[in-house]
Amino acid sequence: MNAPEELDLDLDLSDELAAALLKEDNARPKRGGGGGRGRKPKVDVDNRHITVWMKLNHTIRLEGCDNPDCNDPRITGDRGRNVVSQIHDKYMCRYCFLEGYMLP
Ligand SMILES: [Zn+2]
Repeated sequence: MNAPEELDLDLDLSDELAAALLKEDNARPKRGGGGGRGRKPKVDVDNRHITVWMKLNHTIRLEGCDNPDCNDPRITGDRGRNVVSQIHDKYMCRYCFLEGYMLP
């Protein structure tokens, strides 16, 4: 068992946004390198863990989450709700991701 210490599911919204925005920055091609490996390793989106969520490409989307039964506890209008990630052609928020939305 290698449970991460201090798994904080209640991450600060601004942290989440910042992470999403940082990701955009990191998505740009790095200079030089020449390693020859193109894309970053594929993330296993079926592993619904917060650390997996953090590795996903996040998108700021005004419509928010695609899940009609979204359990995002954040109030409507909270910008954190706009941070979604595309999984299997659906956009979902962190909460739906962790709850296993779209899992078989
Ligand atoms: Zn949701």
